[in-house]
Amino acid sequence: TIPLFLHLLIYRSTTSTTLPSFLLVGPSGAGKTALLTLFERGQHAETRTSQVPLSVEVSLPVSTKAVSSKYRSVNDPSNQAHKKFLLADTPGHGKLRHHAFDSVIKPQNLKGIIFMVDAADMSMGTSGAGNEPLHQAAEYLHDILLLLQKRSTRSKTSKAPRELPVLIAANKLDLFTALPPPLVKTALESEISNVRSSRATGLLDSGIGMNDLDIGEEKEWLGNGGDGKFEFSQMDEVNIAVSVAGGNVLGADESDVKQWWDWIAGNL
Ligand code: GDP
Repeated sequence: TIPLFLHLLIYRSTTSTTLPSFLLVGPSGAGKTALLTLFERGQHAETRTSQVPLSVEVSLPVSTKAVSSKYRSVNDPSNQAHKKFLLADTPGHGKLRHHAFDSVIKPQNLKGIIFMVDAADMSMGTSGAGNEPLHQAAEYLHDILLLLQKRSTRSKTSKAPRELPVLIAANKLDLFTALPPPLVKTALESEISNVRSSRATGLLDSGIGMNDLDIGEEKEWLGNGGDGKFEFSQMDEVNIAVSVAGGNVLGADESDVKQWWDWIAGNL
């Protein structure tokens, strides 16, 4: 995989105007490349990409209307311009490179983050010792949300950052073994609870007291819900709206990415 900084360079250099952009992240195998390819093909039906696109310029399907153009007339030419957005892929490794990611969330016109998971890989009980793909995904998502939370709490002094929505795209719903989106949500929430408490235990073992965790801007505890169960709704307080929607990029029949389009349109 290409290092993230290089990726960012490419991303920056190809972005002459600041189109609204969405970041696509998630564990490897989730279907990110497949989604980018689908979006890319949708744009240029004839061109075949030999290389995996890092960042594609996408236009909303005509049937989907961006929230920002809600009050514009259908004939308004600026409708066209506003429907475009960039979708940038990141290498899907389990461990997050914090600094790299930190610069990823800086682009001015970042409208949201799409975290894609393989819903067919999330079910519990496939092995006795928990579910490794679920754990990996939860760990990755935990780190991203914590980073976004820190970004929000850090800027308390100046202006609070505008809200940044996160979509958990439960992919591969065409597969029989796929968990329905509401269960993907609860599975991730409870696994993130585990990640959160094992991180805290790690910090305690290293001599940092529980009370220290809350001190200062670098709060290491995700969410505001105490040490009970983690829920995505706890992110609302730091202006991060997390939603979950299902779909499939590939499949025996057609792809179904309608709900993701709708989410993108609603945040564009
Ligand atoms: P990435 O690592 O996140 O970029 O994942 P890829 O896009 O490479 O996809 C990983 C694998 O999942 C590939 O073999 C894809 O063909 C497959 N895949 C992606 N999306 C779907 C889907 O919606 N349904 C099914 N059945 N397979 C999918």
